[in-house]
Amino acid sequence: MRIHQTLWNAAKFRQFFDFGNREIANWFPGHMAKGLRQMKASLKNVDYHIPFSGRNPLFQESLDIKPHLLVLNKMDLADLSEKQAILKQLKREGVGNVLFADCLTQRDENIKKVVPVVTQLIESSPRFHRTENMEYCLLVIGIPNVGKSSFVNALRRMHIKKGKASKVGGEPGITKAVLSKIQVCERPLIYLLDTPGVLPPKIESLETGMKLSLCGTILDHLVGEDVIADYLLYTLNKHEQLSYVDKYELGEPCDDIQHVLKKIAVKLGKTQRVKAITGVGDITITVPNYSAAAYDFIRVFRKGELGRVMLD
Ligand code: GDP
Repeated sequence: MRIHQTLWNAAKFRQFFDFGNREIANWFPGHMAKGLRQMKASLKNVDYHIPFSGRNPLFQESLDIKPHLLVLNKMDLADLSEKQAILKQLKREGVGNVLFADCLTQRDENIKKVVPVVTQLIESSPRFHRTENMEYCLLVIGIPNVGKSSFVNALRRMHIKKGKASKVGGEPGITKAVLSKIQVCERPLIYLLDTPGVLPPKIESLETGMKLSLCGTILDHLVGEDVIADYLLYTLNKHEQLSYVDKYELGEPCDDIQHVLKKIAVKLGKTQRVKAITGVGDITITVPNYSAAAYDFIRVFRKGELGRVMLD
């Protein structure tokens, strides 16, 4: 983003994000721990914004045994310039089978590759035994909101011309139980198990936690929309992704979340009338609805309307 180059002076902006005394222990709901105990892995799905933070180290053990494919989803939202570096880093971490995907595109060429890649992986596994009645059963796992259900539906759309077997939701934790088998392909016969999103019980750092919450993998209210919005502003500035300036008619890049939210609130008409007591009696004044503005700012980012960003 170069539009605001003349106004852009990185030194004026925050170089670090102040996390305060936040406590991330409560960001991990109980049902996710339960889901984790129920599962073994085969197919992983990660938001491409966070190819590293979005992975769960606890899966690694089971992944080492079973053949697996890492799907980096929502590639439409991420800055792809670092694609090769990401692949290299994943390879160093022992993840060789990676596929990028955009599950909202009706005919994503990469989704087409899933079945051939997965069947080839399974058949070349030393544990594979060819039988007459051949069917494959795959597990889709990943942290909440990365698009696991959308992925299942995209495969169904592609191979059996049906979608929507799995409920898609913008809120983490909508798929709460390990679901029954969903058929996604006729030839070969492939079933998928959509699973609840599972987060690492111990989020490595507050920074990782903030990235995860920015991508909607943690319920917003547990972290606080105001903080997520502030971290978003900090992130956009850090990556010089300044399309928010024009979108919200700010005139120039800004590092003050209150100012940005005020502009958003006014632009969207999200204001509230409140009574104020003054020395000359009660008056009614109009104030910005900061929470509504913060919610909108975050939502718009998650839809990709503030530009592509690679958070990791
Ligand atoms: P799950 O919790 O991992 O099963 O995630 P969902 O499939 O419910 O998707 C979470 C949100 O991400 C929904 O709002 C989807 O519409 C959205 N989503 C899923 N895949 C993609 C993608 O490839 N690109 C974009 N931009 N959004 C996606």
